[in-house]
Amino acid sequence: MQKYLKRELEVLAEKGLRRTLRQLKGSQGREVIIDGREVLNFCSNNYLGLADDKRLIEAVQQSLEQEGFGSGASRLVCGNMEAHQQLEKTIAKFKGTERCLLFSSGYMANVGIISSLFNRNDIIFSDKLNHASIVDGIVLSRAHLKRYPHGNMSALEEMLKTADEYKKKIIVTDSVFSMDGDITPLDKICALAQKYQCVVMVDEAHALGVMGKKGKGVVEYFGVENQVDIQMGTLSKAAGSFGAYCCGSKELIEVLINKARSFIYTTAMPPSTAIASLKAIEIIKKEKNLREQLWKNTKYLKGRLQELGFDTMQSQSPIIPILVKDSNIAVQFSRLLFNKGIFISAIRPPTVPHNTARLRLTVMATHTQEDLDCVLKYMQKIGRELCLI
Ligand code: PMP
Repeated sequence: MQKYLKRELEVLAEKGLRRTLRQLKGSQGREVIIDGREVLNFCSNNYLGLADDKRLIEAVQQSLEQEGFGSGASRLVCGNMEAHQQLEKTIAKFKGTERCLLFSSGYMANVGIISSLFNRNDIIFSDKLNHASIVDGIVLSRAHLKRYPHGNMSALEEMLKTADEYKKKIIVTDSVFSMDGDITPLDKICALAQKYQCVVMVDEAHALGVMGKKGKGVVEYFGVENQVDIQMGTLSKAAGSFGAYCCGSKELIEVLINKARSFIYTTAMPPSTAIASLKAIEIIKKEKNLREQLWKNTKYLKGRLQELGFDTMQSQSPIIPILVKDSNIAVQFSRLLFNKGIFISAIRPPTVPHNTARLRLTVMATHTQEDLDCVLKYMQKIGRELCLI
């Protein structure tokens, strides 16, 4: 076994794909200490800066006093606490759906939802760049799979035309793509779903709190809230907390409670985590200014990066990819930026397709003008040294 493991690591290293963990000290803010060094953080999904917000911390402290830390059991045994139900009610109301169900993470939500609702009699149409958790859910479901080219609606329609023999047809998509930062054409997907009688499932992981006037996600951005059957999202990104949700009809939620194995066979999230999310949803609802600042920062940074000549791909969100192509150069770019006090991670295959290695820069509402200008200065300098611009 040792021989096999060593060889696996060598192969990864030879291809420039070996990953290592870096330690972050302190809280997940605009400035962090990574491997002992203070750097500006441009790779966090903490879009609104809520991960270390004082109000979330206070709410958690209070919850710890009252409810302790661990939930002790799965929701169906004796771990179903007031905080979980309160959060589910609040999210359902915010999203305008009948019901909501919490999962312990976004990964577990996608795997549990897809594998429990669909089976070998069904067919799933999945965008080629969907998140790994959607892909794994599909594999577990054993449903037939058709992957359509990223965002390509005419290719999707051609596939839909030839799928009459299946019991259920499902289109599943990320709403904001996590490595490309572009948005799925959800209005068109809903129109196709209506025409070909498909179920629509959307993953709003990077859209909750970010997209739509009220921060409800891409469903709100396109005004298709009533046309999407399954709205999944995470509480670990803009909400600054942890965990995930699935929103939809009361029947959908009842089936998930009874059949989703990643819900049934796991311990409920700690009640204080649910309380942190509850506070975050309250802030997302009330404080439009945070979202406005996030978008102001995003427009400024993306505009300047494009002026400098960087390829930011099709980004339409605070996720800004900087296309480098070569994995080793992407890693070198990231390392040189780190040496200048800027943390932006390099993303390589297999997370992204072959020859599309990139820096994945994410913007936060809490970044200052100075932070943005500092990044631009060093991106320009190092980008030139590496002949990228
Ligand atoms: N879906 C998407 C689109 C994501 O980007 C992520 C997180 N990277 C997940 C699901 C998984 O969410 P979590 O981190 O809560 O497991």
